[in-house]
Amino acid sequence: MRYIIGSDKYHVVGNWNGIWKAQAPHKACHLLWRLCRGCLPTRYRLLRRVECTLNCLVCDEEIEDELHIFFRCAVARDSWSATGLSSVLHNATYQQINAMDRIFAVCSNESSDTVGRVSMLLWCIWHNLHKLQSNNVSRTTKAGLVRWEKPALDWVKRNVDIAFVSGSGRTSVGLCFCDNSDHFMAGMTQ
Ligand SMILES: [Zn+2]
Repeated sequence: MRYIIGSDKYHVVGNWNGIWKAQAPHKACHLLWRLCRGCLPTRYRLLRRVECTLNCLVCDEEIEDELHIFFRCAVARDSWSATGLSSVLHNATYQQINAMDRIFAVCSNESSDTVGRVSMLLWCIWHNLHKLQSNNVSRTTKAGLVRWEKPALDWVKRNVDIAFVSGSGRTSVGLCFCDNSDHFMAGMTQ
């Protein structure tokens, strides 16, 4: 641990104390820390490891990276002004090209109260983005869900599932028979 902490390889230069001095709940300071350590799972970062779309979930217009999510997306900009922090967002001192440098500059120049409000705002943006994402996922799975329906009276329903194993020349099949009161009657696999 001492080696890792002392190593230049992992050290990121910046005003780390400014982050922890922010007057905000720990979760908000922690978000700033994750943002500056470069470990927030934005789509831009995820794409290096998993297949996913790159565009911002909210506006679908630009690549979803930290700078876009927190500073440039139209919804984020509205949030900055709704919380009365427009002057911080548009301050000429904080127009660095990456989100980490912007955060460090804000931490160095603003009061711990303002840094606290900024960190809470960023936390809300991030939190809502993920709520939106999970709503999207559950909506698509619900839409794709097919419910089993009972057969009509005196009818038997047979459900079939078949698998083709590519390259092996093998196929498998499973069948099950149910009556109109949803009782299992028979089944087979081959
Ligand atoms: Zn956007």
